[in-house]
Amino acid sequence: MSDYRDIEAAAGRIAGVAHRTPVLSSRTADAQSGAQLFFKCENFQRMGAFKFRGAYNAIARFDAAQRDAGVLTYSSGNHAQAIALSASLVGIKSAIIMPHDAPALKVAATRGYGGEVIFYDRYTEDREEIGRRLARERGMTLIPPYDHPDVIAGQGTAAKELFEETGELDVLLVCLGGGGLLAGSAIAAAALSPKCRVIGVEPELGNDGQQSLRKGEVVHIPVPDTIADGAKVTHVGAHNFAVIERYVDDIVTVSDAQLVASMRFFAERMKMVVEPTGCLAAAAALHRVLPLDGKRVGILISGGNVDLATFAAMIA
Ligand SMILES: *Cc1c(COP(=O)(O)O)cnc(C)c1O
Repeated sequence: MSDYRDIEAAAGRIAGVAHRTPVLSSRTADAQSGAQLFFKCENFQRMGAFKFRGAYNAIARFDAAQRDAGVLTYSSGNHAQAIALSASLVGIKSAIIMPHDAPALKVAATRGYGGEVIFYDRYTEDREEIGRRLARERGMTLIPPYDHPDVIAGQGTAAKELFEETGELDVLLVCLGGGGLLAGSAIAAAALSPKCRVIGVEPELGNDGQQSLRKGEVVHIPVPDTIADGAKVTHVGAHNFAVIERYVDDIVTVSDAQLVASMRFFAERMKMVVEPTGCLAAAAALHRVLPLDGKRVGILISGGNVDLATFAAMIA
């Protein structure tokens, strides 16, 4: 299992390459939540989401043979861009398996960063199997979006930076898709703020992580119907679940309507574009999904990649 030393090593690898993103606050958000909120703004990270941290950390560890053959991945969006950008920064090839209905902005951005895009049907095909086949055929190294120790360690650097800036916190709220960010954040919290409660936040209609934590094993669900496209996963990863079971206190859910209200809040009050999935943690605080009165609360804003037409339609 990854531990805090892996996060420190990852922080060393991404230093000077990833942005150290700002931690912002808002009195309006504090009043609405009843807590003191510290927003770690990974919407301002390179390529627009925290995923750059894990992808770059994983690729930076490749040996010469791995660099020659290049990197392969599957992703519903931000991990694709993260791999494509990291690969081009390190000077290696990347191929990305994406769902045919992935947001146009994310497909274009992935190609723009130099990634080769390979489409699949997320409702009828198994992307993990396609990934294994291509890895065999091309000799490329597969870096999955969340179920990988180097990815988890890289994602943990965001919470590390947050605690370094705020000191200890009472609660840390983190969005949950496959569990890379939540697992990394929970390891960082255990080391830097041991009394901090770490809470995962999922879409109401995609609460596989919540079910898994309650049942004590990874629960699989059908592809969830939610606007939080970064959390449209059917199950948390095996590495991720091992960490979540050990370090995460609870998992709560929010509705799509609460995500939209949070997107509007960020645009109107904090002048930020945050994508639906990026609002999961904030929505739980702003809508008082759990008791936070008087507490110091860290909120991971995970990303800001949403095309403006979609954004405008959602908040209209
Ligand atoms: C990938 C992603 C998530 C979910 O992260 P996991 O590590 O898969 O849990 C949340 N928000 C954004 C913006 C993402 O890109």
